[in-house]
Amino acid sequence: MSLLSIVVPCFNEEETVEIFYSTLLKSISKMELDFEVIFVNDGSRDQTLAKCLKLYQQDQRHVKIVDLSRNFGKEPALLAGLEKATGDYIVVMDVDLQDPPEYIPLMYQTLIGKNLDVVGTRRVTRKGEPKIRSFFARKFYKLINRLIDIEIVDGARDFRMMTRQVVDSILQLQEYNRFSKGLFVWVGYDTEYLEYENIERIAGETKWSFCKLFRYAIDGIIEYSNIPLRMVAYLGNGMSFIMVIELIVLLIMRLCGITVSQTTLLISVILLIGSLILLSIGIVAEYLAKTYSEVQNRPHYIVRNFYE
Ligand code: UDP
Ligand code: MG
Repeated sequence: MSLLSIVVPCFNEEETVEIFYSTLLKSISKMELDFEVIFVNDGSRDQTLAKCLKLYQQDQRHVKIVDLSRNFGKEPALLAGLEKATGDYIVVMDVDLQDPPEYIPLMYQTLIGKNLDVVGTRRVTRKGEPKIRSFFARKFYKLINRLIDIEIVDGARDFRMMTRQVVDSILQLQEYNRFSKGLFVWVGYDTEYLEYENIERIAGETKWSFCKLFRYAIDGIIEYSNIPLRMVAYLGNGMSFIMVIELIVLLIMRLCGITVSQTTLLISVILLIGSLILLSIGIVAEYLAKTYSEVQNRPHYIVRNFYE
């Protein structure tokens, strides 16, 4: 019998872990697959680990726990889980039931039936989400797809089923700054997306503030595109062109005997140049920071305990 691994990153999810597990069991018990559920405790500060351990004691055959030494963030947690997963088919999903477990059998059917490598999911609505967040999310997908080589589907969730081969490919990408939405697509393979309506989390709160999401968006762009870097050069070129024209114009005005108040002009030009320099340095710094963390070559996470 084939093995299905379900990787679930958890950060401060004491309220959702148990409901998640019982709902999941209902959905997958009818499947003709053996399964393992890998909870990754991402340095939770509440009773998440205790709740997971309870499940582990009740059902040692199916439950595994990767307990990280602190909160490393969802991406490293996901990676930790994927590295421990031994299944022939691997599902990654959130613990808050925003990714409906009922879809797993359907994903499996689609994967096998159509001979695909990946079955992903995408939300076709964003109901229950703050309007402003949806707005920026939409804009983000438009922008990122224009900037990068791979296509990230609007509303695509991390919730997906992959074959062993796809996961092995993803695990080969050992970069430090991980943007899973991009990595999943980057490796290629035949993928299809199932659509569903947005579901609000059953309990607890989202760990994503607007600022965190903004940061995530910037990371996504920086990691898959060099255009911002190139823009610095364009900007520099454009500016110097304008400056030369301006100097020529001033010279001509002088020659024609027109007096221009130059103080205001001068100040605005200086300010303009100053801000351009700052902007450019800012963009370069983004890349430098990424390069720095890649070069450091640190492990993505540290495992305190592995219950298997
Ligand atoms: N998560 C995590 N580490 C973090 C933040 C989140 O493991 O630092 C997990 C969280 O427990 C959940 C999933 O990632 O299972 C998605 O988080 P959340 O529901 O807060 O995100 P949203 O669905 O609002 O995008
Ligand atoms: Mg969620």
